Formats: sequence, C-alpha cells, structure tokens
Amino acid sequence: MLMTIEILPLGGLGEVGKNMTALGFDGRYILVDMGIRLDSIMAFEDADIGSMGREELININGIPDDAIIRGRRVDAIVLTHGHLDHIGAVSKLAHAYDAPIYGTPFTLELTKKLLREERHFKFKNEFRTVMPGDKVKVQGIEIEFIPVTHSILHTTLPLISNGNASILCASDFKLDEEPLVGYRTDRKRLKKLPNEGLLAAMVGTVRVEDPGPTPSEAHVREQLREVMGEAGASGGLVLATTFSSHIARLKSIVDLSFEIGRTPVLVGRSLRNYCTTALEIGLVEFPKELRIHGRPNAVHNVLREVQRSKEDFVLICTGHQGEPNSVLSRIADDQLPVKISGRDSVIFSASVIPNPINESNRRLLETKLRVQGAKIYRDVHASGHAGRVDTAEFLEMVRPKHLIPCHGTSDKLRLMMEIGRELGYPNENMHHLRNGISLRLGG
Ligand SMILES: [Zn+2]
Repeated sequence: MLMTIEILPLGGLGEVGKNMTALGFDGRYILVDMGIRLDSIMAFEDADIGSMGREELININGIPDDAIIRGRRVDAIVLTHGHLDHIGAVSKLAHAYDAPIYGTPFTLELTKKLLREERHFKFKNEFRTVMPGDKVKVQGIEIEFIPVTHSILHTTLPLISNGNASILCASDFKLDEEPLVGYRTDRKRLKKLPNEGLLAAMVGTVRVEDPGPTPSEAHVREQLREVMGEAGASGGLVLATTFSSHIARLKSIVDLSFEIGRTPVLVGRSLRNYCTTALEIGLVEFPKELRIHGRPNAVHNVLREVQRSKEDFVLICTGHQGEPNSVLSRIADDQLPVKISGRDSVIFSASVIPNPINESNRRLLETKLRVQGAKIYRDVHASGHAGRVDTAEFLEMVRPKHLIPCHGTSDKLRLMMEIGRELGYPNENMHHLRNGISLRLGG
C-alpha cells in the first residue's frame, strides 16, 4: 500500500531560527523542534519572554506559527538539541498538544529549566528521555536518535520512519573527528541509510556558504593555546567569552587557563545554568575547585578579587555577541568591580551571529574595550555547522531520494540546492519549501 508522508515546515525556512517541522503519517503528526527566533525577540528591548503569550510572540515573528497544526492529532514532540532556536518555544507551544516530549538528557534538562521560567502557560506534557542512538516506537512510528557533533552536547538527528519510508531531520550538525568533549557524528550509522531507502532528508544550511570543511574543536583549542599564552604573558587580566552552551569550548578555555598558570573563573547567569546542567548529568568534568558564579552578589565578590590580582586569573564571562546585559558589556560600561586597563586582553571565542543587532552591539562593545586599552582577539572559533564541503560529504553518506534544505534564509536554501545539483539531484527531487506549506512524498 502506498502511503504518503507530509512534511510541513512551521518555522526555520527562509530564516535562521524558530525551527519547527510537522511530519504527517496518515493524519497523525510528529513535531520536530520548537525554537525561537532570537533576533526578532531582541528587537523588542524590553521583551520578557516568560510573561509573553503565544500570539504576541507569533506577531513579532519570535516563535513558529503552529495554527495550521493545532487540532490535529500529534503523537510526539521530538527535540534535536538544546539550542534556543530549537527548544526556546516549547514553553509557548507544547502545552497545546497531548503528546510527550522526547529528547536526550541535556536537551530535556535545558528545556525543563526554560519551563520553570514560564509564567503564561501550564504544562502537562510528559518528558521521555532517550539516549543518543536509541530508537523508540510511537503509535507504530519509529523514531531513531542518531548521534552527531554540534556546538552543544547531546545533539541527535531524528530518523522518523513509518516502516515503508523514513525522513531524516538533519538541521544542525558538523563532521568533527576531534570534538574533545562528547561524541563524534555516527558516520557508520549514517552510511547505512542509503541501503534502507531514505526517502528524504531535511538538511540545515546555516553555514553552507562557508567553503569548509569546518575546523574541529581540537583545532580551536590549539588556536586558543597560542592566543591565551600570548595574552597571559602580558601580565594583565585575560578575559574570554564564548557561547554559554558550548561546553567543549569552555572546557578548553578552563584547561588552558591552568596551563598558563592562572585560575579560571566563570561568571554570568547563563554560563552557570549550562555548566551546572552539564555537570549534574555527568557530561563533562571540571576541576573540583572551579568557580562558577551567576548570582549578583557572588559575581561582585569574585570580580573584586579578580581586580586585586589580575595577573592570576582568566575571567570567562558572558557577552560574546555584545549583549548589553552581559558581564563583559557591564565591565566595559564600568558597572562592575573589574576595570579594564592597558595590559588586559579580551578573547572572543565566537563569531558574530550575523544580524544587525548583534553586529552593532558587538562593534560598540569592542570599541569601548579598545578605548580602555584592551587588546582584542576576535573569532578564535569554529562553527558548529557543516560548511559546503562537509555538507556535500554528508549528503553523499546518507543519499536521500529527496533533498529538502532547511534552517536558513532563502539564499542559503538555494545554495544547498546548488550542491544537490552538483551531486546529480534532479530538480524534481529537491524542494525549496516555505513555512506553512506542505510537501507530500510517496513512501
Ligand atoms: Zn544548534
């Protein structure tokens, strides 16, 4: 019997952020991810997401518009990883579906923490933890969580199958042989997919314009070793900032701090949140004496100590995008006890996420730091996403019959189709989808 599978993107197509897709099997649906679009929300300076309603957030383009799927039967909500553009809208949307939420331990712990901040909606959804590599059956639909490397631990690619055909949801991943913390992308499993008749893959395009291959985390650690060595030798304070959720990167910075004979101190609410969650579930080991502070009093106290003997510390703090309320921005604005002076260095172990707000925030922050005498090291970083070469390698590994570019602006989606064309995909097997419009494929 020929069944069709419906692929209905609700967010993340023609934009970077607010990822969400509904996969329909004979009138029943599996929802994959519920993300926010951070640049839309940031544009409203006083936005307090916790107290905002669904419609209000849909109107500012901050969360996916799921109206089309409401009232239909949803059997499961599947989360690929713990980045906010994949889980940030769970608190606003999931309660409307009588369905359990599946994800890896780190992903679900981060989601639960977000739900605790929710003040608008109440939740009844059950959480079902899966380990990377696990398969679960939901009303006859099989969901497999294929382990991949990304810039956050415990990322998986859901492979969703009705027994006749399967769809791979491959939004965020990289092919990194040396991720330092966590697992490598499971190439062995991915290479079996062509023999299992993979009907379609949704493949993320966030960094598809980079030639690639995307450098490994081990490569970034070597860059950091060089930069931190040079910065440390100046005798001033070394400040470093990166994504709070990037545990592997933070581990490198912590280890290298000890290597250059300094004490690392982590400061900032979101750093504390992600690091303690990773520690609680045993995803990473930090030295016992490592100090991680998020509460204002503790932050002030430790910063006073750092200011007294700058040459002894590496201050790892929030603020890599120049966020106005971050620790680094408040230091630059002279609102905290650490004062920047001539021999200090600031290492940005992150690239600027390209949108006008980040670009202007970051430019302003760098200018303030420079005026106060700091030496700036930029872009000591490698992306968590595959570039063009690695994307092509990935496609050759999994060889889906149909290619659906996702998670990206229209120009990125088109670029992915160019790669598909180079790999011999006929136009009718590549699909430039739009949010809210279904594609039906026979399986
Ligand atoms: Zn991600």
